[in-house]
This record gives sequence, structure tokens and C-alpha cells, in this order.
Amino acid sequence: MQITRPTIATSRGPSDWFTGEVHIDPIADPAGESGFAAALVHFTPGARTAWHTHPRGQTIFVTEGVGLCQREGGAVEVIRPGDRVFFEPGESHWHGAAPERFMAHVAMHQTDASGSAVTWGRPVSDDEYHAARASD
Ligand code: MN
Repeated sequence: MQITRPTIATSRGPSDWFTGEVHIDPIADPAGESGFAAALVHFTPGARTAWHTHPRGQTIFVTEGVGLCQREGGAVEVIRPGDRVFFEPGESHWHGAAPERFMAHVAMHQTDASGSAVTWGRPVSDDEYHAARASD
């Protein structure tokens, strides 16, 4: 058994990759032969990732609040605590908080052979963010 106390400071999500205020706590970092990485991510109301892809896919598990996510070409979906979302490898998507709610999720993904776990694209525009939702 190995316990790691939370000595790593929470970091702010960089504005190149996130719109609004996002806070990231690392859970697991790639080590040795494992490219597995995980983080707890808190989004303030209205905050979201930019469009991006993961070379080996990603699972997010919502732990708090109300969130939104969308894959390119799909509808904006509402996600709530207990919901689990898998984004396919290479599938362009974004995830974040609802406009008037906080949202927290655990994000889990793997690095590729080059050590990359994500490729970032353009920000999610306000029009995209506020588009009609598939469910509420
Ligand atoms: Mn993602």
C-alpha cells in the first residue's frame, strides 16, 4: 500500500486549453511502462475545455454538479454525478460545467508512444456552448 498525501498544489487550467476557471488535482501520473493518467478536475459555472482529442480515448466520471459535453457532430449532452462518458480515440470533443453550475469529474486516459495524452484545438465558442441540449 502507498498513500500519497495531497502535497501537490491544485493547478489552474491554462487559458490556452480552457475557457473560464478550471482547477486540476493530479491523481495518477504516467510512470514506467504505464501511460495511465488521471486527474480530478473542477469547473466553475460556464467553464469548459477547448475542443480536443485523446490518442487512446478518455473516460470521465462525474462526481459533483451538472456538466455538459459534446462530440463533434453530436448534440450537447447534460451529465450529472454518476454519469460516465467515454470519448473514443481521436474523437474531437469538449466537456465542462453547465452555465450556472459547478461540475467536477475524474478524467482517466493514457499517453501514446510519444507521451502525449491530449491534442488541443480551438476554444468552444459561446454559440457552441449555449446550443440546444439533447437532454436536461
Ligand atoms: Mn477530454
